[in-house]
Amino acid sequence: MRTILHSDCNGFFASVECLYNPEFRDKPIAVCGDADKRHGIILAKNEIAKKFNIKTGEPIWQAQQKCPELVTAQAHYDRYVRFSKLCREIYSDYTDNIEPFGLDEAWLDVTGSTLLCGSGKEIAEEIRHRIKHELGITVSIGVSFNKIFAKLGSDYKKPDAVTVITKENYKDLVWKLKAEDLLYVGRATQKRLNQLGVFTIGDLATFPLELLRKNFGKWADILHSFSNGLDFSPVMKSDEVSAVKSIGNSTTAVRDLQNFEDAKIIFMVLSDSVCRRMREQGFKAKNVCISIRNTELFTITRQTKCERATNLTNDILKICLRLFKENYDFDKNIRSLGISVSDFVPDSISHQTSLFEDETNIMRLEQLDSTLDKIKNRFGSKSVRPAKLMFDRNLSGFSPKEEHTVHPVSYF
Ligand SMILES: [Mg+2]
Repeated sequence: MRTILHSDCNGFFASVECLYNPEFRDKPIAVCGDADKRHGIILAKNEIAKKFNIKTGEPIWQAQQKCPELVTAQAHYDRYVRFSKLCREIYSDYTDNIEPFGLDEAWLDVTGSTLLCGSGKEIAEEIRHRIKHELGITVSIGVSFNKIFAKLGSDYKKPDAVTVITKENYKDLVWKLKAEDLLYVGRATQKRLNQLGVFTIGDLATFPLELLRKNFGKWADILHSFSNGLDFSPVMKSDEVSAVKSIGNSTTAVRDLQNFEDAKIIFMVLSDSVCRRMREQGFKAKNVCISIRNTELFTITRQTKCERATNLTNDILKICLRLFKENYDFDKNIRSLGISVSDFVPDSISHQTSLFEDETNIMRLEQLDSTLDKIKNRFGSKSVRPAKLMFDRNLSGFSPKEEHTVHPVSYF
C-alpha cells in the first residue's frame, strides 16, 4: 500500500508577510494586490482577519469597513516563490517524489522512505515540526493511501496539524464531508449531485454507479472511484508535471465566415472561453496568438505581446480583432478561427499599471468578468451573452469551454 502525504501551507501569503513584518503577527492582516487603498483588492488574509469575515477578492475599502484595524500588506510574489522552494527542500529530505500543486501545496509519495524514516504519520509530524521551526510558517498535512484522501486530510484539521486517513477510518472521516470538498467537484457538479440527493462524499460513494453514469457519463466513474478511495494516480515528480504553457480554443464555424462581423462573433465566443479558463487557473497572459484558416485550408497565425498581462475578456477580444484586421483582408472566406494565449503570470501579481491605463477601470472590468464567470458556472456558458451574439445564434451557438474541458493530466 502506498503512503502519500499532502502538505498545505496555512494562510501562505499572509504567513510569509508576517515573517518579514513580525509586528503584524497578532493583528488581522490582509495581503493586497495594490498598495493603493482606494482600488486594491484582498488577495489573502490570516486567521484573525478571517474572523472579521474578510473575503479574498473584496476591495480593501470594504474590508476596512468590516475591520477598521485591518493591516494591509502588499503582495511580494518573489517571497512566496522563495518560501515555496524552501518547503520543497525540506520535503526532498524524505522523498524525491514530490508533486507541487500551486505554490503552497504539494503531494509527497513517501512509500519508499517508511523503512528508513518511520511511518507516514511520523514523517508528516517531522515535516510539520521542521517547517514551523526552520521556516516559521505552519502546514497542515494529510496522510493517506491515495492522493485524493491525502488532500482531504490536509484540509481536515488546520492550521499546524496532521490527519491520517486509513482504509479503516476513511468511512468515519471522509464520508461525512460534503461532496464538493472532493477535488474537482465544482459548483455545476455539486448542484447536479444535490438534485440527486447526494450531499456527502459517503452519499456519492454508495450511490448506484449505473445511475451516476446516466447523469455524469464518463465522469461518474471518477467520482465513484475518488469517493471510495480508489484513486491510483501517481504522485508525479515536479519535472514530470507538465506546466500549463498555453491555453487555446479554436472552432470551425457552422458556415464559412464572410466578413469582419462574422469573424467578430466567433472571436467573442472564443475569447470568452479562453479568458474564463485563464481566470479559473489563476493566470494572466502576456502573449496572444490567433489562427485563421480559410476555405482553401491555408492557415496563418499571428501573435502579439500585450501591453500588460491580462485575463480580461474584453482586452483579449480587442487584441484579437486588431491582429485579425491587420492580417486578413477577406480575399477568401474563413473556415475556422482560433485564439491561444501564453506567457503566463499568476493573476495575484499586482497590476503593472502603465501610465495610460485607468486602474479603476481595470478593477471594474475584472469584477464584471468574475461576476459573469459565477453566473456562467452556475447556469451555463450561454446564460449571459453579449447582445451581438443574439443576432446569429447559429454562428455563435457553440461553447468551446464546456466542449473542450481540460483536466489535470495526472487523473486522465
Ligand atoms: Mg494553503
